[in-house]
Amino acid sequence: MENKIARSGSTSMVQKVAQDELLNLLEPQMDSDDEEEALDEFCVDSNSKCADCNSAKHVAWVSLNLGVFVCIGCSGVHRSLGSHVSKVRSVQLDTISASQVLVLKRLGNQVVNRIWEEKVELAQAAKTEVAGKMEPAQTTKAREGFILNKYVNKTFMDMSVPIILADFLKAAITDDLPKLAWFVAHDVNLEARGPSLETALHCAALAGNASACEFLLLNGAKLDVVDAAGKTPLEVGKGAAVSVLQVWTELGGGSKKVLITEAI
Ligand SMILES: [Zn+2]
Repeated sequence: MENKIARSGSTSMVQKVAQDELLNLLEPQMDSDDEEEALDEFCVDSNSKCADCNSAKHVAWVSLNLGVFVCIGCSGVHRSLGSHVSKVRSVQLDTISASQVLVLKRLGNQVVNRIWEEKVELAQAAKTEVAGKMEPAQTTKAREGFILNKYVNKTFMDMSVPIILADFLKAAITDDLPKLAWFVAHDVNLEARGPSLETALHCAALAGNASACEFLLLNGAKLDVVDAAGKTPLEVGKGAAVSVLQVWTELGGGSKKVLITEAI
């Protein structure tokens, strides 16, 4: 299912543009436009090296739900953790939709590592000794250990911080991908409800935020939940969010509703 995130027959112009944008994120082209140059600079710094081992070789894989670019060696470890942890795709070989490219653009290695390697970055800033960032030349066993600690054991994050539901829903409304990624990394309940029984996906849908919807769905948000008015995220969706929700609904095999009468 996950290999067909984009619509079938998706070798359209939209898909071609999405693929080109993705390649630009990884291997940015020089462009005279100031804004483009700023983006290129960001990409060179953050995405041309593997998010996990910092290798500059064979960085041609992405984790769609985490929002990072990784090398071939680390991509194999990501795959071994299962798609519930990391949904790995090849930049060159797999179909990646426009909204998924948007997620990668708004996240990327620098933003994501600030979340998942928070303690490493703090220690580096303070020049203190901790279990530091993995280096490219490390053994396969060391690579596996680091990636497991980073994304599954969450060794490099402070998991004691409180989760504030209102802030999570606000991040969905404002299309704040870094904040949403922070909440997901800190194990937020994706099905938690606001005052009108709305989930974060309802909020993102209603605000017309395609990338927030895509990110939440990639990380397991459910499509078949209804708010107090009995509506699913698709039924309240607006603008660009609608097509993202429609694709995921088609992939999920329909629009079955689940009625929950109380806030979780
Ligand atoms: Zn790597």
